[in-house]
Amino acid sequence: MKAAIVTKDKKVSVEEKPLRSLKHGEALVQVEYCGVCHTDLHVKNADFGDVTGRVLGHEGIGKVIELGEGVTSLKVGDRVSIAWMFESCGHCEYCLTGRETLCREVKNAGYTVDGAMAEQCIVTADYAVKVPDNLDPAAASSVTCAGVTTYKAVKVSDIRPGQWIGIFGIGGLGNLAVQYAKNVFNAKVVAFDISDEKLELAKKIGADYIVNSMKEDPVARAKELTNGAGLDATVVTAVAKTPFNQAIDVVKAGARVVAVGLPTDKMDLDIPRLVLDGIQVIGSLVGTREDLKEAFQFAAEGKVVPLVQKRPLEDINEIFEEMEHGKIQGRMVIDFTK
Ligand SMILES: [Zn+2]
Ligand SMILES: [Zn+2]
Repeated sequence: MKAAIVTKDKKVSVEEKPLRSLKHGEALVQVEYCGVCHTDLHVKNADFGDVTGRVLGHEGIGKVIELGEGVTSLKVGDRVSIAWMFESCGHCEYCLTGRETLCREVKNAGYTVDGAMAEQCIVTADYAVKVPDNLDPAAASSVTCAGVTTYKAVKVSDIRPGQWIGIFGIGGLGNLAVQYAKNVFNAKVVAFDISDEKLELAKKIGADYIVNSMKEDPVARAKELTNGAGLDATVVTAVAKTPFNQAIDVVKAGARVVAVGLPTDKMDLDIPRLVLDGIQVIGSLVGTREDLKEAFQFAAEGKVVPLVQKRPLEDINEIFEEMEHGKIQGRMVIDFTK
């Protein structure tokens, strides 16, 4: 099978790779689409360690074509996901308490195990989440990572219908966070970014208000919108330190600030503000299988529409270059159906 493989010089080579045979509990998936994520860029660049020879990809969607022994959760023909949360141990304190994404022995597709940027991919059947029939598979690939990550983050923010939520950073993650917050959680959404172009997109997909933090003071604007109170919650998908600090400054007492973006930096936490105002700062990482199932369902109902653009596998190094130069709008998805 053809696969996108990480090379020693931090590039990706498209080459033939033989597949091993299926073990107990595994299934073979014929990949239809696989999204290209910022995390893939980090993996390829060896930012998380050298993974030369690994098949990339953790936003895979495809159809089951073969079952290993003992598989009861899937059948041939099912359309399933291949996600970053590829498999967890199933028996630790995190796995047993609905927090499997925190499992210390978790395996990640396209990083610790071969991923979905290939014509075929072997999955652990119980961890492959079924995709609803009426959800477009290319759109589903985007929900597998960006979608579930933002859905989970908004869920963790504890926002309730009619409350005010701020989304910081309107990129590949942020645009989905706006849609989940607005159309699933029924919140009033304020989008914060420093690009007018991205903010215009936020407005188009449902943000109630947009704030360019370079041109106006985000704190003053948040206060103005909420009669001086501040927002009820914020979700930060940005990859810079400043918006993380602003996300704390714009919320009211008792609010939650959910961190999703991954700048390699420290945020300033004003201790009196944290203590006296009871602010909760929470990190949120991808989502569980159940979260993904829910995120798929909302996308299938048309409440969330990922912006995707199909590209051939051969474009992969070009896509990474575009990503490094911040040229990508929405999600680039490798098309394996042709
Ligand atoms: Zn991803
Ligand atoms: Zn575990």
